[in-house]
Amino acid sequence: MTKRAEAINVEKSALGEGPLWLPESGRLVWVDIEGMKIRMWNPKTGEEGAVSVGQRIGAVVRATDGRMVCALQNGFHFLDMETGELEQIADPEAHLSGNRFNDGKCDPAGRFWAGTMPLSGGAPVGALYRLDGDGNVHKMVEEIGCSNGLGWSIDCSTMYYIDTNTRRIDQFDFDAENGGVSNRRTVTVIPVDQGYPDGMTVDMEGKLWVAHWDGYAVSRFDPDTGECLERVELPVSRVTSCCFGGDHLDELYVTSASVGLSEEQLSREPLAGSLFVYRPGVKGLPPSEFNVQSM
Ligand code: CA
Repeated sequence: MTKRAEAINVEKSALGEGPLWLPESGRLVWVDIEGMKIRMWNPKTGEEGAVSVGQRIGAVVRATDGRMVCALQNGFHFLDMETGELEQIADPEAHLSGNRFNDGKCDPAGRFWAGTMPLSGGAPVGALYRLDGDGNVHKMVEEIGCSNGLGWSIDCSTMYYIDTNTRRIDQFDFDAENGGVSNRRTVTVIPVDQGYPDGMTVDMEGKLWVAHWDGYAVSRFDPDTGECLERVELPVSRVTSCCFGGDHLDELYVTSASVGLSEEQLSREPLAGSLFVYRPGVKGLPPSEFNVQSM
């Protein structure tokens, strides 16, 4: 039996990204960056929802106090999902109006990592930031072209990171105690004919699942060898990110985008912007939450 990714019957996104499973409510959330909203879907009931945030949103995570935390074009904010009310935490790039926040994720100790990118491409003037539970923001990596996938090894000794423009999946030594990163080096380089590496998640076996923007696929990599272990093809070119979800964390949810495609490409990819599900036979880990302390 061939294993395939199936399209889920939900409204398409312009730029679907950042899927996140919420175990306590059994829902998947993801962002539509250009649609400026958070999307929600309950796989059991089929119920869909959305919360508009009024500006581009790169990533959303759950906080330990039940709120959500977003990386918006204008910085880090708390969000009350019921009322849609935003409360700014910090805007580390208030002086860089040409940048916006992109992908982000919490590390196993509950710090929120999110990076930026220039809205119009060009020079690598983005950065990767770390928001700690006390509200302090630290710039951790500079000279980023398009900050994307993040993940941590099972033993928390390594952080994986993708700057899409480099075509590389990189890794750092990660200090779980203080959130420091060092010794950046490359896991693998994505070949030109397989698109660009975008979002990423780590499975229970410590392997990396990487979305291929302009590459029609999600691939599983062994970070110790750089070897591609599995390739899952999708009927859309702009595959953006993935996460594990479902009651048993055995479903890989995959987001995609239609933004920037020509009429002719869109006619060839009627599912562009859809959400997909794939059952890889390996499970993921529950997502880490933002560990709120007094600010
Ligand atoms: Ca992305």
